[in-house]
Amino acid sequence: MIRKTKSEVIAPYLRDASNFSGGNAEEVVIPETSDELTNFLENETRPVTIAGAGTGLTASRIPSEGVIISLERLNEIVKIEEGLIRVGPAVTLKELQSFLLPTGWFYPPNPTETWASLGGTLATNASGSRSYKYGVTRDYVEEVELVLVDGRKTTLKRRLKISEPLKFDDGSQILFPDVSYHSPECKNAAGYFVRPGMDWLDLFIGSDGTLGIFTKIVLRLLPCPADFVSGILFFKEERACWELIPKIKSFKGQRINPCSLEYFDHNALEKLRSKHARIPSDSRAALFFEQDVPESKDYDLIMENWFEFLSEENIMLDDSWFSQDAKDIQKFHDFRHDIPIIINEENSRIGRVKLGTDMAVPDKYFMPMMEFYQEILRVNGLDYVMFGHLGDNHLHINLLPQVSQKDQAQQVYDQIVDQILKWQGTVSAEHGIGKLKKKYFAKMVGPNGLSDLKKIKDCLDPGNRLGAGNIL
Ligand SMILES: Cc1cc2nc3c(=O)[nH]c(=O)nc-3n(C[C@H](O)[C@H](O)[C@H](O)COP(=O)(O)OP(=O)(O)OC[C@H]3O[C@@H](n4cnc5c(N)ncnc54)[C@H](O)[C@@H]3O)c2cc1C
Repeated sequence: MIRKTKSEVIAPYLRDASNFSGGNAEEVVIPETSDELTNFLENETRPVTIAGAGTGLTASRIPSEGVIISLERLNEIVKIEEGLIRVGPAVTLKELQSFLLPTGWFYPPNPTETWASLGGTLATNASGSRSYKYGVTRDYVEEVELVLVDGRKTTLKRRLKISEPLKFDDGSQILFPDVSYHSPECKNAAGYFVRPGMDWLDLFIGSDGTLGIFTKIVLRLLPCPADFVSGILFFKEERACWELIPKIKSFKGQRINPCSLEYFDHNALEKLRSKHARIPSDSRAALFFEQDVPESKDYDLIMENWFEFLSEENIMLDDSWFSQDAKDIQKFHDFRHDIPIIINEENSRIGRVKLGTDMAVPDKYFMPMMEFYQEILRVNGLDYVMFGHLGDNHLHINLLPQVSQKDQAQQVYDQIVDQILKWQGTVSAEHGIGKLKKKYFAKMVGPNGLSDLKKIKDCLDPGNRLGAGNIL
């Protein structure tokens, strides 16, 4: 086991992709095996925070004290058996995708940031553009080796229900507490996942590094689609793009059945023009769509169905882009990836601090949500960019205030939270709560919800030592 105590060596572990500063830790511990980790934890009393790859956006891996455990040495990809793959938590999405490329298997969750570790994606229940059809990380986790902060270890398999005790290798067990809290029904990554009759595994997925440590992961794979039909559609008006979404959903997977529906507003297109000169000059919105093609023989029919549908709609069909080959598909994904990157680069260059939303609402509030966003952003006159998962009613608004507008931007953010909560939405649909969104999470679940979630935390980590400062 490697132990590092020099401040300059600890410093990189006190950062992630949020703007959070001021973290602190006494040392970084790097176990070579999960047994080394459990031995260390059995004799440890300090607060413990797990470091993944540091791409998180909520400072959840940045402690204020204690020890950081980096699982970077647990990075093996074992093998694929019957559509399941065993990986160490430090394997990145990029490494997994490269490994799978020649195998004919496919891992559907595709968060934009492929440097994320799989352990991190489990801890945040990460999702991506294809979540509209394929679901989120949670849907592909079959089994984990899980370690509690006191060093107890268990192999946790799917279908172990919370009505049964959670048993550990040392013979001890934990019962799920009596709580009435339920997670919201829309796409959600805020707080613990709690639903009646759920699996224990689902409690740990998305728990922001606060309930248990994933030391081995078994993921479920799907056979790789033969191809993807994809395109970037351009619109003269933003509203024309929004109006397409309920129509696509009304097909309920018949006629056309996309896996991705990703939005770019006029400000996002303006930023993207610096890298993508071919964006039509009179377009005010874009939609990246993608549909998986199970077998090559289905390709032409799927393509025809899309053209038939789109030709009746209010889009700039002649100026829109459609993939011809795998390179184009990758280019369209890069187009989607470029928008947060361009904004983050711009922020670093000019020293601007963005305020990013990650909220979602149930389907029936989609159009009111879009109209509300448009109006509140218009009235306030702040610079902003809006993009993201239109199919999931889940958009990222990046408020880009000047220094003198910081308070105004915060007020706008607060007003958006209040409205989203009135619509039974969530304050985080994909990035988690971490240390940055606790105030909003408390508002979302109320005092009774918080007290239920504390009961859950208490039975797994009574000393509140794991990921302290996150969520609660
Ligand atoms: C440009 C950009 C684009 C992004 N796009 C997306 C996106 O499309 N979808 C999305 O969901 N997110 C996205 N993110 C956010 C980020 O990539 C995810 O939250 C990711 O899952 C974090 O993984 P990580 O390995 O970097 O974790 P870290 O940031 O290191 O840690 C995140 C949390 O996971 C915990 N953790 C890490 N490993 C373990 C483990 N083995 N056991 C228990 N807890 C652990 C940490 O303690 C911490 O609480 C994006 C970020 C950036 C910068």
